[in-house]
Amino acid sequence: MKNILSIDVEEWFHPEAVQHLFPPDSWDEREPRVERNVEKLLELFDSKKTKATFFVLGWTVRKYPQLIKRMAEAGHEVASHGNSHRMVTKLTPDEFREDLAESIAAIQEITGKKVLGFRAPTFSIVKETRWAWEIMLELGLAYDSSVYPIWHDRYGIPDAPRHPYIALEKESQKLIEFPMPTLKIGNKNFPFGGGGYLRIFPLWFTKYAIKKFNKEGLPAIIYAHPWEFDPEQPRLELGKVQTWRHYYNINTNLNKLDVLLDRFEWMSFKDFFEQETLDNFLI
Ligand SMILES: [Zn+2]
Repeated sequence: MKNILSIDVEEWFHPEAVQHLFPPDSWDEREPRVERNVEKLLELFDSKKTKATFFVLGWTVRKYPQLIKRMAEAGHEVASHGNSHRMVTKLTPDEFREDLAESIAAIQEITGKKVLGFRAPTFSIVKETRWAWEIMLELGLAYDSSVYPIWHDRYGIPDAPRHPYIALEKESQKLIEFPMPTLKIGNKNFPFGGGGYLRIFPLWFTKYAIKKFNKEGLPAIIYAHPWEFDPEQPRLELGKVQTWRHYYNINTNLNKLDVLLDRFEWMSFKDFFEQETLDNFLI
């Protein structure tokens, strides 16, 4: 069983938890770090002969076109993380259409390849924003990977399916939702394998969770951000809990990912579509 490796490509000043400190018009003045952090990951993936999906912001594409080119030339999939890291919950349908279309056009112009997928900033496809699936389908996407079937203060649809499913079907077009990975314990879903959950939980737990997920016959989806592998980034004071959640284990995270890349087999979403009989996985 191959699992799916994904990276949400954003700068250290983009995440929702710090965005109140960095209005978009100040982004150009901040210390750029995304390029060197992505290079670290490209090197690691290359050494393991692993392919991943990079969900990139339109902003990053315009600023670092060569970086996006290198991702594509190395055989990785480049997909959309929106244009300027605005949560879908804060957009009207028209604003979302414009934001997504702009990011898709920017990527396609650089890679020359059709964009197939989207990951919403801060997993902001929730009950109230499921209208966004219609717009994704309208813009030609084949999949979305934005729903976290858990309870969380910022995101999540706790009772959403844990397995990939058809979010929307129109004529012969389908949009598949790939939810973030969870362990079901009793009747509750617990997140694992991405962002803070990957950093905070011990490695043995993440390995156990991936194996357990695979036993259900499904690929686990791992996700991380380039800044989560950057111990030298400017440290922000975010309050006790948030600071802990944001920076915990950043020093050891690259090593953790390295071990997971050795222990399991990985692929991009695009490879999953090409290699697997998708119908076997859908519920
Ligand atoms: Zn993001």
